[in-house]
Amino acid sequence: MSYKVIEVNAEKAFRKYDNYDIEKDFRYPYHLTPYQGCVFQCVYCFNYKKSKYWKNIEDRKNEIVVVKNMPELVSKEIKKLNMENHPKIVRIGTEAEIYGPAEKEYNITRKILEEFAKYGKMWKIYIPTKSDLILRDIDLLKKLNVVVTVTIVTTNEKLAKKLEPHAPSVKRRIEVLRELRKNKIPCRIRCEPFLEGISDVENINKIKNELDLIEVKVKKLNYFTLDEVKKRAGIK
Ligand code: SF4
Repeated sequence: MSYKVIEVNAEKAFRKYDNYDIEKDFRYPYHLTPYQGCVFQCVYCFNYKKSKYWKNIEDRKNEIVVVKNMPELVSKEIKKLNMENHPKIVRIGTEAEIYGPAEKEYNITRKILEEFAKYGKMWKIYIPTKSDLILRDIDLLKKLNVVVTVTIVTTNEKLAKKLEPHAPSVKRRIEVLRELRKNKIPCRIRCEPFLEGISDVENINKIKNELDLIEVKVKKLNYFTLDEVKKRAGIK
């Protein structure tokens, strides 16, 4: 699918939070945001709300903001952070898919992982994704202290297609999890947002048990109502 790239350079890579709470699943001590915008176009996506580039969900269209100098910044900043007495836990990708199509061209995510790999398993790295491109980086993931989170809102392919029109199918996401587990990479599923009458947590739990995943994290719908999401997806 076609998309427009907006290349930018940042001044800083790591965003630090002191009031993090890992149990809450979103307050990681450090975040990295190498991309903004996402061509998967999930109808429930609220990430544009955190971005200065788009004011509403329709505005974001197929634009991807690529932070080109992120690997260089990570390389520089990580040396200093390694010396600090702050938990070395980072989530990569807070406002967009980090394994979207632009990654094939720019390799920003891979270069960032290469920087972390220089320090072995010192950093715990959380990677959220819906993309099978993550399999490209298995060689690196195996060397890192990483947890991959794959989002599955429903196992019903027809509904998933309506909700996440350009994301890989649920079947493909399960294959990705299977492959990662074959390589002993810790994984979990995030069912976010939980959509009443659509999210089949029981089936998702079966996948968790079959693949020996860490957990299924269920998170409620934020920013939109269920009716808004269903209307946008064309689900009655
Ligand atoms: S994959 Fe994530 S970032 Fe991309 S549109 Fe869907 S919810 Fe938003």
